[in-house]
Amino acid sequence: MKKVINITVVVVIVFLLLTGCNKIEEVNNEIPVVNKVYNKAEETNNIIDKKDSKDDNNSEDPFEKIDLSKKPNEAGQIMILMYHNIGNEESEWVRTVENFKKDLKVLYEKGYRPISLKDFVNNNIDVEAGYTPIVITFDDGNKNNFNIIVKDGKKIIDPNCAVSIYEEFHKQHPDFPLKATFFIFGKNPFRQKEFVEYKLKYLIEKGLDIGNHTIAHNNLTKLDSSSIQKVIGENIEFLSSILKDYEVNMLALPYGSRPKNKENEIYLRKGEYNGINYNNIAILNVGWKPSYSPIDKRFNPYSIPRVRASEINVDNVGLYDWLEYFDKYPQKRFISDGNPDVVTVPKKFEDIVDKNKLNGKLLYIYEEKE
Ligand SMILES: [Zn+2]
Repeated sequence: MKKVINITVVVVIVFLLLTGCNKIEEVNNEIPVVNKVYNKAEETNNIIDKKDSKDDNNSEDPFEKIDLSKKPNEAGQIMILMYHNIGNEESEWVRTVENFKKDLKVLYEKGYRPISLKDFVNNNIDVEAGYTPIVITFDDGNKNNFNIIVKDGKKIIDPNCAVSIYEEFHKQHPDFPLKATFFIFGKNPFRQKEFVEYKLKYLIEKGLDIGNHTIAHNNLTKLDSSSIQKVIGENIEFLSSILKDYEVNMLALPYGSRPKNKENEIYLRKGEYNGINYNNIAILNVGWKPSYSPIDKRFNPYSIPRVRASEINVDNVGLYDWLEYFDKYPQKRFISDGNPDVVTVPKKFEDIVDKNKLNGKLLYIYEEKE
């Protein structure tokens, strides 16, 4: 039977990765995780014999349904938006209610769709073909992120707080998923003691995420190893006492601060405090630029940059500056192929793909038509 396509099979030895070794061993039939690499750009025979493939029992081609006219590029960049306050007066750390509503509308219209931070770092990107994923984060757990008003003995979510605005937008635009992470600190997140438990459970039930922002918004620059583990672990201890089955394993660094002593850097990722072991899968900087794709060689989940979701920016690196940038250079932007099991990348970006980061997905390289 004629072979019509070239399929290279790369087998990744998972345990080697887990032990920190980056070696790839090629073709070992006993290893269960297989990353197929289909390189359409290197295909020698462009004519696919339809009769032949009909007779073939393995005719289901996961790449066949990918619409290349949408110019998918899953090696493109993704913005991790960083919000702080939703308030009355716009400033560097405050977005007004109207501007936050505007952001959601603009992102929606420009083809951006929220995904969770966990799915982002795990390369589980499920976005409609032709659209760009975006990650939304809120730092500090301010009251204006999630505020409860009691009216006639009834609990009402303040229509001007972030949670309510976002939920309302999602209701009107169901294809704009309700996905965000709230990085909170201390024992009174969202600043209404009587509603802490209600709010935390509410967010998790809605499919939103809670992230760690240390116990007291600690500056990590000068802390020793045990203090770093304490300020990270103590916050998890508190959150876990309310959210029993929820793992808090993402950290946003307060002030973007990292330990000056580089030997202590490891404790941002893993450590132990009071019998609690933590293992962070994502560490976020304060940052000023979009992130590399999670399959990019340069992507580091322990140092993820963020884009300030504001317009008052000293260095022109806010959300609207980057939106303009991606309008101007659309090839820099992550464009989904619509299939979460396939990572589709134009040939010209093939070299930036780290095949160890595919996380079991198939890699599809294609030659872009001008
Ligand atoms: Zn903060």
